[in-house]
Amino acid sequence: MKIISILFVVLSGPLFANIAIPNNSFPGGIAVIDFLTSHSKPQAFYNNVPLFVQKIRNNQWQAFVGIPLLTELGEKEITVKTDSEQNIKFNVKYHPYEQESINFVGDNNKYLNPNLSHQERIIKERKLLASARKYFSSRALSNSFFIKPINNNISSKFGNRRVINGKDSLPHTGIDLRGNIGESIKSAADGRVILIGDYFFNGKCVFIDHGQGLISAYMHMQKVLVDYGQEIKQGELLGTIGMTGKATGPHLHWSVYLNRTAINPALLLENN
Ligand SMILES: [Zn+2]
Repeated sequence: MKIISILFVVLSGPLFANIAIPNNSFPGGIAVIDFLTSHSKPQAFYNNVPLFVQKIRNNQWQAFVGIPLLTELGEKEITVKTDSEQNIKFNVKYHPYEQESINFVGDNNKYLNPNLSHQERIIKERKLLASARKYFSSRALSNSFFIKPINNNISSKFGNRRVINGKDSLPHTGIDLRGNIGESIKSAADGRVILIGDYFFNGKCVFIDHGQGLISAYMHMQKVLVDYGQEIKQGELLGTIGMTGKATGPHLHWSVYLNRTAINPALLLENN
């Protein structure tokens, strides 16, 4: 069996892997939409944004739709473009998320009430971060699943509704993993470094492109140990745990984006 699969890899050219995830069609989840076509390179779009598309076998294809946390529930549709166009409808269903309270004190108050120069910085950085999330390359995902960047416990879950210093705030768009300053952070999958920065809110961070709008981001790092444009293997060292930017203690904030949308990174882990 092993010989056959090795032969298949050799004969089928460049390595690509299907990522086998269930349909999680809820805010912060991934809608998995199957479609049939004999076209060799179908494209799919949601709100005109290109989607991650993978071939299952023969004429069977799948599009992944990252669904924003703050989206309205109900019927949505994607457009599949081959030689013609077809619209496929899907439903976004309710999913419960927890609530958490966070208190920022002392110097950390600047993150709640940034002064004018901080505000200018925030606007500039927001543009850079948005352009990284928009990055869309044709590279194929080469891993079947993601791995956790650090094998530690979660201190704050994805999607938590946040109350910061008593005020309702935006939901949590990543997973926070506990860690000590200096612990290693590893890449969730093969990819290429498309952004490195030291930003007001995110602190020192690295963004990795995994292809077709699937991007992972690692934030609040102490040290970044990769270079812009570098090709990265799954499990390769990216940097170390820190508490740079808006952080109340040392941890890794891990985000994953699909079609420019933060989704729950845990959905891409095996046996999540
Ligand atoms: Zn976080």
